[in-house]
Amino acid sequence: MSLIAEIEATREEFTALRRDIHAHPELAFKENRTSEIVAERLASWGIEVHRGLGKTGVVGVLRGSRTAASGKPRAIGLRADMDALPMPEHNRFAHASKHEGRMHGCGHDGHTAMLLGAAKYLSAHRDFDGVVNFIFQPAEEGGNAGARAMIEDGLFEKFPCDEIYGIHNMPGFPAGQFAFRKGPTMASSNRFDIIVRGTGGHAAQPHKAVDTIIIAAEMIGVLQTLISRHRNPIDVAVLSVTQIHAGDAYNVLPGETVIRGTVRTFSTQVLDEIENNMRRVAQTLPQVHGGTGELQFYRAYPPLVNWDEPTDFAARVAEEVFGADKVERDTPQHGGAEDFSFYLEKVPGSYLFLGNGDGDHREGRYVGMGPCELHNPNYDFNDALLPVGSTYWVRLAQAFFARG
Ligand SMILES: [Zn+2]
Ligand SMILES: [Zn+2]
Repeated sequence: MSLIAEIEATREEFTALRRDIHAHPELAFKENRTSEIVAERLASWGIEVHRGLGKTGVVGVLRGSRTAASGKPRAIGLRADMDALPMPEHNRFAHASKHEGRMHGCGHDGHTAMLLGAAKYLSAHRDFDGVVNFIFQPAEEGGNAGARAMIEDGLFEKFPCDEIYGIHNMPGFPAGQFAFRKGPTMASSNRFDIIVRGTGGHAAQPHKAVDTIIIAAEMIGVLQTLISRHRNPIDVAVLSVTQIHAGDAYNVLPGETVIRGTVRTFSTQVLDEIENNMRRVAQTLPQVHGGTGELQFYRAYPPLVNWDEPTDFAARVAEEVFGADKVERDTPQHGGAEDFSFYLEKVPGSYLFLGNGDGDHREGRYVGMGPCELHNPNYDFNDALLPVGSTYWVRLAQAFFARG
């Protein structure tokens, strides 16, 4: 492991910063304090700061001293997310959340601090030819799509990037282990409502009603055949019904039943097929029984598809800096969703995982110690990763410019 010594020397500074952000978590598009800290630090290192993209997003632009004055410079985008989760924190350490019901339960505090650490170093070592865009985005969690909000505010027009990269910490992987995957890596996330309408009536006189509960019960079985019979078995896809809402009496047939759930796929084509089939079932199956039906389908995040060459490049840099034994090149697909996928629809790049360890890094004298998993109330980002992530970001940018 070859950390950059100058970055290692800032370990305390960035640990303190990470813990400060952890103690003051902010939710989607309300990252006011966090983005203020980010902007203030970037400016203090002489980095050009742009605010207000996607409401609370911040972009720091650092131009290398060897960049030609004319022509379009090569540019790399490095992204960190800043938002916390609407969940309680059970940790009792000093830097635990000061805001009830809000927690940095996904380590975005650490992602922000790692990227700031790299920005500080690169601002003091500008001898490269090109531009680094440090992208601090809001609202990754909960389908809020801060990435899309920044893109819609002109991120790539104002700050063109030839390639873009992102890092997410991963509990359960050994601390400091890098994990890469080419192609579809994280799932699309989608939710649906199916509204079945019939005719309400007396439960003792079903022949005078159109019973929406019977239709819904049948429909739930048919929906599963869209996965088992209509999907190519080699394509990964999940359709889960997670809610059924109907009725409030023992002796009344409700005139409406609502079915809700989620669909996950690793390709948009498979998603299109499933949505089309769901619409057909939702509309036609109720008609068999004299009712009607409607599908409302909402696509939150597309599948995250890593580009081949940027992924090879990013993995090679990790191997060169930290050794091949620290790098997994073919990590399994992850069923979670991530809005970095929006960037990768526009710009070549790759999204990688950095092992957060199994939780031993947490100071162990608090009540209620649960697993150190993402979105768990006892999660904490592993501060040992800060110099690792910052060193990696720096080496990735330097290798990108050296590559020409
Ligand atoms: Zn998360
Ligand atoms: Zn996250």
